[in-house]
Amino acid sequence: MSDLKYCQGPECHTYHTQDRLKGMKGSKTYQTRRRSSFYYLGGNACDMRCQSDWFQKFGEQAVNHFGRVKEVKHLTEQNAWVKNYDYRSYQRGEEDRYYFVNKITEEQRPLTKEQYDDTNYTLNER
Ligand SMILES: [Zn+2]
Repeated sequence: MSDLKYCQGPECHTYHTQDRLKGMKGSKTYQTRRRSSFYYLGGNACDMRCQSDWFQKFGEQAVNHFGRVKEVKHLTEQNAWVKNYDYRSYQRGEEDRYYFVNKITEEQRPLTKEQYDDTNYTLNER
């Protein structure tokens, strides 16, 4: 089963749960959890504790690596566009309704599903 992956929590193997206790009788050990998918740490940790352990150990390095915020940011009309989805129109049997909403002016502009799903598509000035 090569598509199983290991929990990235650095302490995962130290937590005593029955599902972590594996091996032959007489030589069982607590082991890192292995699953086809995880729900924490972007799909890399088995639970909130392992997610937290990872962040305690590596968060500082990750922030430095990917870019630390070094000056104040301002929310203005030019960068206040967020995508939204009206689930109620789906419940009413209407077409799915996707739209941009400006968090400053509250103006709304319609979106296609493709534009909604496209993570690079934005009205915000960069
Ligand atoms: Zn874990």
